[in-house]
Amino acid sequence: MYQIRIEFTFDSGHRLLDYNGKCAYPHGHTCRAEVYLESQSLKEPGLVYDFTDLKDRIKTWVNDNSDHAFLVNSRDSEVSSGLAGAELVWFFKFQDENSSYEGMSRALYEKTSEFCDIAPAKVRLWESVNQYAEYFGAPSIGKA
Ligand SMILES: [Zn+2]
Repeated sequence: MYQIRIEFTFDSGHRLLDYNGKCAYPHGHTCRAEVYLESQSLKEPGLVYDFTDLKDRIKTWVNDNSDHAFLVNSRDSEVSSGLAGAELVWFFKFQDENSSYEGMSRALYEKTSEFCDIAPAKVRLWESVNQYAEYFGAPSIGKA
């Protein structure tokens, strides 16, 4: 089994609804993202996936949707209406779901599958240097 991994960072804000703790307050993180691809076989010229192509496709989506954005639960009318008057604000809405790192890792997993035409083995998102969330999908054996 071959495995490759790319890593990049992006900045975003979020908060958790229905949560009793500091994460209920709007705040931000520099998120470190890792995307893992696996394959039993290699494509010419001996790759699981071209690193540059993979990074370009994923980073384009992240830059256009999540980087320097506020990742908001669609039910969060306080933050949505509070920031709506700002001249420069960018929202990425999670449909009736908190923008937890668990949900964000699943979203990046799904977007990687969509834009790269391969299901990652997993996506890991670091919320801080001490903690991360991961989302695993079905094995992508032979799909590279
Ligand atoms: Zn947070």
